[in-house]
Amino acid sequence: MSNVERDPAEVVCVAGENPAAVEILEPREVPLGGPRALKVRRTLPQRKRSLVGAWCFVDSYGPTPSLAPRTMDTPPHPHTGLQTVSWLYAGRIEHRDSVGTLAHITPGQVNLMTAGAGIQHSEVSTADARPLHGVQLWVALPDEHRHVAPFFEHYVPEPVRFGDATLRVFVGELLGSKATVTGFTRLVGAQLDLPAGASVRLPIEREFEHGLVVDAGAPTLQGVPVPAARLGVVGTGLSELDIEAGTEPLRALLIGGEPLGERIVMWWNFVGRDHDEIAALREQWQAEVIHGGTHSGRFGRVDGYDGEPLPAPTLPNVRLRPRD
Ligand code: MN
Repeated sequence: MSNVERDPAEVVCVAGENPAAVEILEPREVPLGGPRALKVRRTLPQRKRSLVGAWCFVDSYGPTPSLAPRTMDTPPHPHTGLQTVSWLYAGRIEHRDSVGTLAHITPGQVNLMTAGAGIQHSEVSTADARPLHGVQLWVALPDEHRHVAPFFEHYVPEPVRFGDATLRVFVGELLGSKATVTGFTRLVGAQLDLPAGASVRLPIEREFEHGLVVDAGAPTLQGVPVPAARLGVVGTGLSELDIEAGTEPLRALLIGGEPLGERIVMWWNFVGRDHDEIAALREQWQAEVIHGGTHSGRFGRVDGYDGEPLPAPTLPNVRLRPRD
């Protein structure tokens, strides 16, 4: 028997077999749509992992240096089969959608939009609150609920203290703090702040996978460094998570949930189950909204946005393959 504990490389090698192993996902820089093309750091999905629980998309952005009045200007665009979760560290975003919502979020507040069968929305950062700094996450809806009628929720969690840690639970339940927004699978999402030098051992659900989306700081998760802008992921089977801030204050999002256990297809802003479904949704968006053809009402209309909706990109020639 060799002692692998003294060799951190071994811990990485047994990822997937050892429940304490941590996967480190590097961000990809992606320009967001719109004329000024805010760049986002996308840590999910990627080839080697596309889901953490039902969380299927993680985009982090900012803090933006720009003094432009509209750092984020995302024209009306559709979603299906998912929920969007918007969380800010700084700034303010104006949200408009086709169920009639006009809402603003500021730091410490969550906007959760359940797209279900279909919705469209616009997101514009406002000039009075700069810089812009935050995260946009998506949750895939399970098959039995993915065609629900769309709706919008806003929630402001009360911060909870746990040792040196401060948590803001914006989805699901943790440490007795329960978000009132709707989940369709068992999920958790929370902002975690730790002062420099502090550590926390968080009680978590054994059936959940978890991810730590590090915004600021140089923490360790289960003893493994997770640098800023990375997503550290641990699988199911843990009842506690060890997080140490290191020499800088830590600010991160903790996301988790029971594995979705379904194969999904994600393309552009749609989550579906196969290529033909995605192709039909794209066709419907183009016909109804972009070209103003026959109107089935799937995507409704967004009032009050100054500009045209986003046309869908061309579908790739290769058939879209489901993500496990
Ligand atoms: Mn969107």
